[in-house]
Formats: sequence, C-alpha cells, structure tokens
Amino acid sequence: MRPFNHINATTLNQASDALKKSGAVAAAGGGDLFPALKDNIFPEYPKTVINIKSIPDLDYIKVDGDTLRIGALATLADIARSPLVQANAPILAQAAGRASSPSLRETTTIGGNVCQLPRCWYFRKLNNRFNCARKGGERCFALTGDNRYHSIFGGTVFETAPGVKRTCVAVNQGDLAPVLMVLIAKFVTTERVIGNMDFFGVGVLNSTVLNCGEILTEIQIPLSEYAQRSRYKRFTFRKSIDYPVLNLAIAVNKDKSQYHICIGGVAPVPYIAGNAEALLKGREITPELAEQAGIAAAEGAKPYEANAYKVQLIKTLVKRELLAL
Ligand SMILES: Cc1cc2nc3c(=O)[nH]c(=O)nc-3n(C[C@H](O)[C@H](O)[C@H](O)COP(=O)(O)OP(=O)(O)OC[C@H]3O[C@@H](n4cnc5c(N)ncnc54)[C@H](O)[C@@H]3O)c2cc1C
Ligand code: SF4
Repeated sequence: MRPFNHINATTLNQASDALKKSGAVAAAGGGDLFPALKDNIFPEYPKTVINIKSIPDLDYIKVDGDTLRIGALATLADIARSPLVQANAPILAQAAGRASSPSLRETTTIGGNVCQLPRCWYFRKLNNRFNCARKGGERCFALTGDNRYHSIFGGTVFETAPGVKRTCVAVNQGDLAPVLMVLIAKFVTTERVIGNMDFFGVGVLNSTVLNCGEILTEIQIPLSEYAQRSRYKRFTFRKSIDYPVLNLAIAVNKDKSQYHICIGGVAPVPYIAGNAEALLKGREITPELAEQAGIAAAEGAKPYEANAYKVQLIKTLVKRELLAL
C-alpha cells in the first residue's frame, strides 16, 4: 500500500466536507476499499482516506414505529445476529450472515456493502493495468474480452465526463442489494432519501447514485408482510469465502397479490424480474407456474458466449425458491 493521509472523522459534516476535496475517499470497514488500495487499482492513488467508522452512533439497529432502521455503520455480523432483523427481515439477516467471511463480517458494514465497487477482473487488475470506462477510461475491456462473470442483461451507458458516453457490463455482486430491493428499502443520506429503485447506479468509480461527498447514513425497511414471506439464495462456485456469481431474493405479500423478485450478478444494477412478477401476480405457486416464472425471469437475457450459464441459473433458482417460499 502507498502512503496516504488518514482522517478519523467525528461528524458527518466533517467527513462530507473532507470527501469533497479532490483525492479523498471514504472508508467504513475497509473490506472492499483496502484491497483496492493495496492492489493500486485506481487511476489516481487517493491522497486521503476519510475513516467514517469513527463517527459515533451510526451503527444502530432499531425498530421505530413500522420501520426497521439500520445505521450505515452497522456491521454485517451485528445485522446477521440481531434478533430485531431476524424477526422483522429474516432474509436480510441471512444474506448478511453469508457475505464474505466470519472475520470480515465483524468489521465490514451494510453501507460499504451496498456501495462496493464492481468485482470485474479488468477493473480490479493490479496497478490499474486496465484503465477501463468505469474508471473514466475510454473502453470496456470486458465487451470484447473475458466476460464470463459479466452482465447478461446488457450494459449501462453512463457519462465518464460531460458529454462523453461509455458502457460498462460489470454486474452488481453485493449480497445485500437484491434483498434490500425486494424489501422496498429506503436509503437515507446526508442529502436526501432515495427509494430502492433509484439507489443503485453506474458511474466513474461509483456503484450508486451518491454524489461526491454524499454519505449513506441509514437504511430503512418497512415492516411489511413482504419481509415475513421471503427467500434468499446465493450461487457461488466455491463453498468457502466467495462472492455470489448470482443471488436471488424473493418476497411476497399475504394475499399473493404482489411478488417481488430481484436478481444480483446478472446486470449492472440489481435486476428486477418484472416479467416473472407479472406472471405470478395473485396466483398460487404450482410446479408448472414456478417453472414458467423461471423462464419469464430470464426473458430478454442476451448472454455472451461464456456466461450463458447464468440464464439456466436464473431459471433453476427462481423455480426452486418459489417452490420453497
Ligand atoms: C475476501 C473478501 C470476500 C468478500 N466477499 C463478499 C461477499 O461474499 N459478498 C459481498 O457482498 N461482499 C463481499 N466482500 C466485499 C466487502 O467486504 C463487503 O461488501 C463489505 O460489506 C464492505 O463493507 P465495508 O464497510 O468494509 O466497506 P468499505 O470497504 O469501507 O467501503 C466500500 C465502498 O463504499 C464506500 N462507502 C462505505 N460506506 C459508505 C457510506 N456510509 N456512504 C457512502 N459510501 C460509503 C467506500 O468509499 C468504498 O468505496 C468481500 C471482500 C473480501 C476482501
Ligand atoms: S465491465 Fe465495467 S468495470 Fe469491467 S472493464 Fe468494462 S467498464 Fe470496466
């Protein structure tokens, strides 16, 4: 790792002001950021790391009226073992308890998990070997290179500079993202409240719509019936520590008038399987319907040669998890 200045922020204002200065980056648990610094993947090495974990009272987990409120600095381990989360949003406890490794879960946070940068191997290659579009460079190397872990639902076109448009086909692989989508979470920041459908995004060195200096402070989950009838499943190649190649969250309300289905690892942002949701609306799950829903969830996929396996994964996992719901 190269030297950098280190500031232990004590207030959100202090952290936010410091982050607006060029060359500054926020660290919470550091589980995503520190390996990236160690591998020197950024086009410009950050001058200052702003430790936001030193800001007090942002690691709470509490129920307030009809909302489960989780501070952005709550660790994945605390979320996994919280009786409040287990009782009110069991799939969130389950997903938090499966991400990364037991020791990392003790230090890494929910805020860092939803803001983590893509795992694309070009993006993560040592010493910024590939200065790709997601870093402000000119091209996406995965479009013509090895894209076996990349999107099957197209890329996101975004601006790398005013008026300069580029495409990225990296996927969002975080464990918690699809879960928070089906639980209709709200994301509270130092500037605004962002709905689940608007939070995740693609930008230069960014996986959310957060502005420079904007800090996620809280995640709010409505205590709805969806939270109680839900499933979370992740598919990995290795049994030990591994990111999900694909992960799936499903939630349904009591009268089954609405199913929420979200899939991670298949698109640049968590993918809402709208066709499957529409097909299932108001219907009892049967083996035939679950199979049709799996097919509907994969509709519109345009895989590359090396990642067509994800289409079959969607079909199988959606079918299985609907039957288990
Ligand atoms: C070996 C290994 C295995 C892993 N396996 C998994 C896995 O299976 N599943 C998974 O989902 N992740 C995995 N991760 C990634 C990472 O550990 C987790 O995503 C973790 O939750 C990140 O949280 P953090 O607090 O450490 O984030 P940090 O590394 O501190 O931050 C991550 C990013 O988010 C930004 N950020 C952090 N907090 C905020 C905030 N409150 N507001 C605005 N921006 C913020 C930071 O600036 C940084 O860009 C793994 C990491 C490692 C090293
Ligand atoms: S998929 Fe995105 S992160 Fe990967 S090389 Fe292309 S632009 Fe970069």
